[in-house]
Amino acid sequence: MAEHPLTREDIEKALADVKDPETGRGALQQQQIRDVQVTGDVASLTLAMTTHSAPLWDDTQKAVEATLRKAFPQLSTVKVTRAVHQRPAQQLGEVGVPAKSVIAVGSGKGGVGKSTIATILALGLKRAGCRVGLMDADVYGPSIPHLLGAQGSPNIQPNRIEPIMVNGMPVISMGFLVPRDQPAVWRGPMLHQIITQFLRDTQWGELDYLIIDMPPGTGDVALSLSQLLPLTGAVVVCTPQDVALLDAVKAVAMFRKVNIPVLGMVENMSGFVCPDCQKRYDIFGRGGAQREAEQLQVPFLGEVPINIHLREHGDAGTTLLSLEDPVVGPYLEKISWRLAKQLAESAATDPPKPPLPVL
Ligand code: ADP
Repeated sequence: MAEHPLTREDIEKALADVKDPETGRGALQQQQIRDVQVTGDVASLTLAMTTHSAPLWDDTQKAVEATLRKAFPQLSTVKVTRAVHQRPAQQLGEVGVPAKSVIAVGSGKGGVGKSTIATILALGLKRAGCRVGLMDADVYGPSIPHLLGAQGSPNIQPNRIEPIMVNGMPVISMGFLVPRDQPAVWRGPMLHQIITQFLRDTQWGELDYLIIDMPPGTGDVALSLSQLLPLTGAVVVCTPQDVALLDAVKAVAMFRKVNIPVLGMVENMSGFVCPDCQKRYDIFGRGGAQREAEQLQVPFLGEVPINIHLREHGDAGTTLLSLEDPVVGPYLEKISWRLAKQLAESAATDPPKPPLPVL
């Protein structure tokens, strides 16, 4: 127990190691811990964090409180007031996307729930308080509009596309531009052109995260993206079956080949939790993706069980409600939390990779 009455300096010294979850740099040095006061046995301070790390606000606040309580057991009250710290996003790449993190969601093959997970990631981050945009780059089978129940034709002017706003989130998709029953046939250069226009012309506003739903398997779009802007990384979605996992391994290799770091793997359709008895059945086995992720030295971001509500909400265009579902919601929420945590951990150590030269 300290002999002298506690001072502001004592509190600040105890909090010297608290890191800003967005940058990994010291929160105190960046004036993100401020207004530190001690009156008798009551300490108070303001903890300011950016909306980029909104999923981690609770954890960071709890860590600050726990550190102070441990260091100074004589304190009766530790009062932490939260504030939003402003740190503007840079314009990324030659396309000038105003985002802090650009995350591609890919898979080795179709039908594994890639678009569902991309949508859930975007909605989960948005719900936590981040500013999020969602770009559907799956131009062959755009399913984002359907999953979000979003309709409309974006207003397109030269060099300017107004995205469709879904619950305050800007969304762009080929699904808004071509009729649903028309097959999409794109040559390579057209594909590059579409991706460029989506990134460059869409009026995204300032974003913390741009989530990009990739076409399954192929490397064309990944190559275009990596030439146009520095991606923060990719999330690879797979199912537990071995065959799907082999596809996932290929997807990881593909991203790495075009210089996009893989931020993590998600195992979707991992087991079935019976809605009546809550018993879990691992129909396709369990843990395969986690083992594979370890071998590939890729973080494991979580698993999502087969869930009828997730499928029903996807079909009905109410995917947002899946996050509220008592059975599957917690699994879904954990993925965006783990992703944010993963980014926070790598923030200080891994600067973003430069874009590849255009060939
Ligand atoms: P992909 O983008 O990989 O082709 P989608 O996200 O379009 O896959 O999902 C394919 C179908 O599977 C959709 O009908 C979706 O609602 C459903 N689905 C995805 N994940 C799950 C899950 N965990 N449980 C039940 N259905 C799911």
